[in-house]
Amino acid sequence: MKKRSATDVLPAEGGLGNEPLLTVDNLHVEFHTRAGIVRAVNGVSYSLSAGETLAVLGESGSGKSVTAQAIMGILDMPPAVIPKGEIRFHGTNLLTLSEEGRTQVRGERIAMIFQDALSALNPVFTVGWQISEMFRVHRGMSKRDGMKKAVELMDKVRIPAARQRVNDYPHQFSGGMRQRIMIAMSIALDPEVLIADEPTTALDVTVQAQIMELLAELQRESNMGLILITHDLGVVADVADKISVMYAGRIVENAPVHDIYKAPAHPYSKGLLDSIPRVDHKGQELYAIKGLPPNLLDMPTGCAFHPRCPYRQDNCVTDVPPLYEISGVRSSACHYWREVLDGSRG
Ligand code: SF4
Repeated sequence: MKKRSATDVLPAEGGLGNEPLLTVDNLHVEFHTRAGIVRAVNGVSYSLSAGETLAVLGESGSGKSVTAQAIMGILDMPPAVIPKGEIRFHGTNLLTLSEEGRTQVRGERIAMIFQDALSALNPVFTVGWQISEMFRVHRGMSKRDGMKKAVELMDKVRIPAARQRVNDYPHQFSGGMRQRIMIAMSIALDPEVLIADEPTTALDVTVQAQIMELLAELQRESNMGLILITHDLGVVADVADKISVMYAGRIVENAPVHDIYKAPAHPYSKGLLDSIPRVDHKGQELYAIKGLPPNLLDMPTGCAFHPRCPYRQDNCVTDVPPLYEISGVRSSACHYWREVLDGSRG
């Protein structure tokens, strides 16, 4: 069947009705390798509305970045294969679009900020040139007008003396300033969805807070949907509306941000929360979840978290927990979510 272009099927911006802006529905992603099939994403579902911030949380290898790459259409296929699932944007399954259609959506309507700004930026072009390229390529602007827009965007992401620095190269900026330049590039075309993959990992704590504040402010101004991918629960507390916690390719807990901070309903979320350093626990040893994330080529039976779980019972080793619905907005993939929730409250 001929795949469709984006303009064939997607409404212009704002044509949403009651549909969430973006819906990931039962997504599966596998990597076919010589060592075997790596099931990196196993039935992930989440949705995002305009103006909403979803934090996707988990350790390396949990599938959070692979899900984001599938949304962006930047997975190398093969070795990646998407055997099941849908990614709907304005109700249209992006997986049914032609490569040309995906290119129209990527950058223009769904954009992404990567973790490592230094390797994502081209070292041999000035930052102004790289930002203005978005306008030259996608909007057909002249070099001069593109550079004017680059200065405006550098101002918007609060790079001091933007006009003087527009012809500087990436290595002439600090890590925090380079991440601001990446943000400027990602919002250049006014995307409706912005995915930020560990946007503050390489930065110190003060700069992390400034970058998160900037993202939140830009989102408020433009009503974008924002997906924040992180391994650090502490980073998202003030900016996210809701959280999906991932472990071994599955979502193990969905919750509004305040609920999960108050009382997590999955032992893994509880472990992540307990691992956040607290000023009122000065002098005490920092908690760490015991053990390592599972090998995706050799997954544990039953609940994938059972080898590390302090709440484990016999049936956890044999029975895969479904995502139990706790309330309309909360769910947990733990047979013993009630005990975890009650323990958290105690
Ligand atoms: Fe722990 Fe069992 Fe819950 Fe898995 S199902 S998280 S092993 S208590």
